[in-house]
Amino acid sequence: MQFSPIIKTAQQINYDAESFLSTYHPSLFIPIPIEDIIELQMKMDIISIPGLKDSFEKMGLEIDAFISSDLKSISVDRYIYENRLNRYRFSLAHEIGHKILHEYLYVQFKFNVRDQWIKVLNQIPISERQIVEWQADEFAGLVLVPRLVLKNEYEIAIKEAETILKKSFEDNQSLVENIVIEYLLTEKFNVSKYVIRRRLENDQLI
Ligand SMILES: [Zn+2]
Repeated sequence: MQFSPIIKTAQQINYDAESFLSTYHPSLFIPIPIEDIIELQMKMDIISIPGLKDSFEKMGLEIDAFISSDLKSISVDRYIYENRLNRYRFSLAHEIGHKILHEYLYVQFKFNVRDQWIKVLNQIPISERQIVEWQADEFAGLVLVPRLVLKNEYEIAIKEAETILKKSFEDNQSLVENIVIEYLLTEKFNVSKYVIRRRLENDQLI
């Protein structure tokens, strides 16, 4: 078994994310409809599985979802699927990141159910795993929160937050930032505040 991921910079991953979006969602309207892209355009199956996350947790792994080695279906924990929209969307985008970035690694395996995936996971050194996971997370952030859209929406959200605060006679820069990140941008992009914060930091907007 050969598992040596190609090292990529954030800039290279952004290029992959932008070309993904220009193929599947060129309007860049937000929230990025990642579930529809996967099911309707890429014709992949999304399968929700009860207790998936818990069974990984027992092994000390934090896994909400995984993509089959033929890259045709994504299995997602049912609780996340039904109750945690933002996290579900990020998990989908992350798994698509594996499809786009790591096909050359996945083709050598054969798994589509949890136990097969666990066997494969155990064969991969943790340092290599961290590289591919970082790349997929980066891809997911850049797909759900595209650079150009973020810059625009950030500027709009700051003005909105300042207007809200003026009405309550508050003048506090960190409060503006909190409103922008925790409410306005989170709701517009349908991602968690952690994803928004990380994207803003990476694009050096904050
Ligand atoms: Zn992953």
